[in-house]
Amino acid sequence: MSRDPTPSEGTPAAGPAQVTASQDRDAIYRSGRRLDHAEGASRPLRPAPEKQPRGARIHGDRPIDQAEAAARFIAAPEHEQMHDARLWDLRQKRDREMHVIPEWETLRALASAIKEHTLTHLDEYLEQFETQAQSNGVHVHWARDAAEHNRIVHGILRDHGARSLIKSKSMLTEECGMRHYMASVGIEVIETDLGERIQQLDNEDPSHVVVPAVHKLRTDVAEVFAKTIGTDPDNSDVHYLAESQREATRPLILEADAGMTGCNFAVAETGTVTVCTNEGNADLSANVPKLHIASIGIEKVIPRLEHLALFVRLLSRSALGSPITQYTSHFRGPRAGGEMHFVLVDNGRSARLGMEEFWTSLKCIRCGACMNTCPVYRRSGGLSYGATYSGPIGIIIDPTFNARKYSNLPFASTLNGSCTNVCPVKINIHEQIYAWRRELVKQHEVPFVKKAAMKAAGEVLSRPAVYRAAVATANAALEHLPRFVIYNGLNAWGKHREVPHPPKQTFHSWYQQHRGEKP
Ligand code: SF4
Repeated sequence: MSRDPTPSEGTPAAGPAQVTASQDRDAIYRSGRRLDHAEGASRPLRPAPEKQPRGARIHGDRPIDQAEAAARFIAAPEHEQMHDARLWDLRQKRDREMHVIPEWETLRALASAIKEHTLTHLDEYLEQFETQAQSNGVHVHWARDAAEHNRIVHGILRDHGARSLIKSKSMLTEECGMRHYMASVGIEVIETDLGERIQQLDNEDPSHVVVPAVHKLRTDVAEVFAKTIGTDPDNSDVHYLAESQREATRPLILEADAGMTGCNFAVAETGTVTVCTNEGNADLSANVPKLHIASIGIEKVIPRLEHLALFVRLLSRSALGSPITQYTSHFRGPRAGGEMHFVLVDNGRSARLGMEEFWTSLKCIRCGACMNTCPVYRRSGGLSYGATYSGPIGIIIDPTFNARKYSNLPFASTLNGSCTNVCPVKINIHEQIYAWRRELVKQHEVPFVKKAAMKAAGEVLSRPAVYRAAVATANAALEHLPRFVIYNGLNAWGKHREVPHPPKQTFHSWYQQHRGEKP
């Protein structure tokens, strides 16, 4: 790999301070020059209303009750067990792929350094990407937020008289609520990714960034297809279901007026957009209609084409435990007689870049590995988070969109650190989850009872003598207290757990007895 401008040997990042808010709170200045592009936007976030998980008790911006929504998921044990097993299988496949690459840790460190370098020079690389894309004949647009993204896409479609849009999977368009917006202006959107199409037909959001319908059993899919495309409700054979969906969707694809893709990587050097899929559906979306629109989060830019090899090696292995995706498609310019548009979207990313403890979450390549390994995510299902992004990565980026609404999410973690260990770009996820807890307390977004309980626990745990006395008292009390004192409606902990019988001797007293010294 060439040296410049990539910090290929872990060049210390300059830090996000290079892009800083200045006098005008709606502007960003760099080297004394006001940035008018979207990377300079720092307007307060105005998140679009999001669809809520089915059955959860959520109203407006009130905090999402993730525990309650998860309880509904767990109440269907067949789903919970399948979900847990399916995702753990992906985690194990990822481990197998990782172990056959001796330089895996070097690749992670390099990917992390490239991302940090790019993020700290984001304005330069975005401008380079724009210039290159324009010289390739691509129209480039900048969107400050979700609403502007949707308006831009709608404007392009309107200018072409387009009434239908086929699209491949894109978490960014989910984040922007684009499908609902398009429905409101009379544009039909047809998802071409099978999992995403299942979710669309079931009127549900994706529950995972890579496998959107992973929480569904085959019988669930059979039920959805029977209702929407008229398949046999008793036939849940995967080949039958996939073939039926292909038959139903292919005519829509062939007749669509426009196509849309997301973007896994935007290469600044070439102005190229790269999309990784396993179904080839991005190629259909991009190549069948003459009009192709790609929605691109500004953090997706990487400096050079040669860097792509590194990220492609890491992405599919981390996501699905496969060496590479079936299709790695590069889109550089419009097809003959066609038109290509890139929409570069900020939607809060610039603001996040200025958050000292959270800016590195922008390194994320959306592989989903942190979700697959997370014991809470595996057992509570993605929809329980009530947000576009779920699992550990969702926990650290959702509060940047709306701290109140997502204030419960950072507590849906055991802080075991497994997410950080598997992350191919070395995001310190569990540390950021912990940092969000502190931040939410500072912002008064944590309920008084929880804060008081944590304060009391802190007092006890920081005083060994008090702690030992509390343990002794609790052990004695557990022997004699009536059951309802622990297992009642006020104690969520006791809902799904039995307190184990206290041991006859604590480890502390055993240690003193056998070692004769205080530990
Ligand atoms: S945070 Fe890391 S592990 Fe999680 S989706 Fe992003 S890149 Fe993958």
